[in-house]
Formats: sequence, structure tokens, C-alpha cells
Amino acid sequence: MTTPYSRQSFLGANSQARLNAARIAIIGACGGGSHVAQQVGHIGFGQIIVIDPQRIDLTNLHRLVGATLGDVKRRAFKVDIAKRTIKRVNPKADVIALRSYWQSQSALLMECDVIIGCLDSVRAKNELEAFCRRFLIPYIDIGMDVHGSAGEHLIAGQVVLSMPDRPCLQCLGIITDADLAAEAAKYGAAGGLPQVVWPNGVLASTAVGLAMQLVTPWHKKPLDSVYLHYDGNSGQMAMSHRHKLACAAGCQHYPANERGDPMFDIRTPAPAIRNELHRHPVARWLQTMRAKVSTVMAHVSPRRGTPT
Ligand SMILES: [Zn+2]
Repeated sequence: MTTPYSRQSFLGANSQARLNAARIAIIGACGGGSHVAQQVGHIGFGQIIVIDPQRIDLTNLHRLVGATLGDVKRRAFKVDIAKRTIKRVNPKADVIALRSYWQSQSALLMECDVIIGCLDSVRAKNELEAFCRRFLIPYIDIGMDVHGSAGEHLIAGQVVLSMPDRPCLQCLGIITDADLAAEAAKYGAAGGLPQVVWPNGVLASTAVGLAMQLVTPWHKKPLDSVYLHYDGNSGQMAMSHRHKLACAAGCQHYPANERGDPMFDIRTPAPAIRNELHRHPVARWLQTMRAKVSTVMAHVSPRRGTPT
């Protein structure tokens, strides 16, 4: 039978049912996030959460996929543009577009199967990764940068899959104390960093590919950790040499006793495991672990600081 997804059926048995049952979140809906939103809409993810508090302005139009000059004139919210883009492709998709900071949506995000961060700020990346580590959610981070001066600009970027117990953004040198301090000195603003549409597209497409490997069985071996470095001048994407070193060293930044919901109440039932029979084994395992960790942590660990 011909369906809109016939030509991606090679992704594996029940892959479309798995995608339809999966919940993916996109944090940041501008340059990178707009590409991700468009692609997950085409692929057929059933539940898509897009979070970004900002409205579009004229400086976003050169890279925000799906945006129009009319959106700029009426100062549309970026998440509304993303939702419109997805819905035009797949009206059945359950799209939740939130004009807010992700930190205020943690209850929704806790139940995601994968979260893709498309954020400029290193502090925001750090906080989002910490949230994902705490709740055992696979986190995919993308970022691009432009170095150099006139005539010698170098475009670089990275795509990282951050998984529990595996190298984190700090292990990989993507987030450093110096970067955090420099950003804090600017009151937390990442600033109007240089951005262009095509490297964002490469990075976002790679991130979506990793998400597909997590959710569908098209690769026999499940993913556990990835750090791909992108050289935008040569057009090459390759595993960073830092990844092997970080794997050997092990992550010390997210200890096991900092998992689970510090505000968890034993009287609250654990989140239902949705459509379990259609899930990929990795996603099913992660969700079961999350529920168990929340239950255990409520008994054995004192509450620690402010929840992320
Ligand atoms: Zn680490």
C-alpha cells in the first residue's frame, strides 16, 4: 500500500508507528531549530514540542526556514512559524508550540524520547544538558561558529549526542568554565553571533539523523555517544578526536546520585509508558529507567538544590 512514508519504510519494522508514537522536543526555533522542525514534520514524528520565547526579526530572515517577510512585519513568534511549517506537511502531527523558556516546561519535557537543543548560549546548553542527564533523556546538541577575520573566515560547528554516563559537553570541551564566565560577564547574552543558513542545515540534518537512529531500528547497533565536528570551509563532517579521549576518561560531571526528580512525590504515579509495544528498545529502556530512578531517588537521596 502506498503511503506518504512508503519510501522510508527501509527504516525498519514498525518504524512509522514508532515515529508516530515518539515525542521529540526542539529547543530554539531559529536557524538550526527551524531546519529540525521542518524535517521532523516531513519524517512523521507524531508528537513535536517546539520551545522558543522569541519573535522573528529582520536579522533572522536569512536563515529561519519557513519564515516570510510577512512574518517579520507582524513579528510572529518563531515557534508559530515552526508549527505552521510542520502542520502544512503533516496536519495530523501533535505540535505543541510554546512561546516560553524551556525551563518553565520541564514537566512536558520530562516525557520526551529525545531533545534537540539549537541554542547559542553556552549557559543554556549547559542547563539543558543537565536537565536531560537528570531525567535520562538523550540530548542532541548542535552549534555553529564563525572564526577569523575578513577574507579568512572559517565556519565550524558540532553535533553531539549526549547520553547518560557518556561524555558530556564539558568533557568534550564544548562548554568550558571560561566560556561560561565570559557569557556571564555579558549578563548571560550570547550576542548576535554570525550565522548562515547552509551550515545550520547540515548540522540540523545530522542531528535529525541521530534522532532517527535512536527512535527507529534502521541501524542494527544502538547509538550511545557521538561528537561530530563540522568544517564548513571544506564541507567535512568527522568524529572529533576529543571523543575517544573523553570516552576513555569517563564523565565526572553528572554523578549517578544526581538523577531523578528532586521534587518527586511518591504519592504521584510514575508517568505511564506510552505505546510501549511500538517503542525502540533503547527508548523503552530509558523510560523504564527514568521511572525507577525517580522512585528510588525519592527514598535514598536528600533534596539537592534547585531543580534544573
Ligand atoms: Zn562530562
